[in-house]
Amino acid sequence: MTDDQLSGSCLCGRIRWRARAPMRAISACHCTQCRKWTGHFGAFTGIALADVDIDGEDAITWYRASPIARRGFCATCGSTLFWQPDAEPRLAIAAGSIDGPSGLVLDRHIFCADKGDYYAIEPGVPQFAGDD
Ligand SMILES: [Zn+2]
Ligand SMILES: [Zn+2]
Repeated sequence: MTDDQLSGSCLCGRIRWRARAPMRAISACHCTQCRKWTGHFGAFTGIALADVDIDGEDAITWYRASPIARRGFCATCGSTLFWQPDAEPRLAIAAGSIDGPSGLVLDRHIFCADKGDYYAIEPGVPQFAGDD
């Protein structure tokens, strides 16, 4: 573990995570599930499950929103935190939970076909109708 790896927490601080490897660029997800779950649209970085430590796991409520993945949030403060697919040993982590500067960039918008009609997606970042 090095000090330059990212860490994050929920709003109340009961759940904390720390990466042990670099995290991938941010994906903005405009799917209907992310929109309802976050209140706007999702923004997630990601990492292999083996490369992240989580404290306060007992405070995580997991919601199975689809047959392929589950979504984890803090049972106390409601912060959206994790999206975990069944088929791959990786974890998507809400970008908003990162503590301090992330050093990451948002490099793609996915599920744009499902986006809300009340906002525009900025030009210059690749957009995909579904998954990328
Ligand atoms: Zn919390
Ligand atoms: Zn989504």
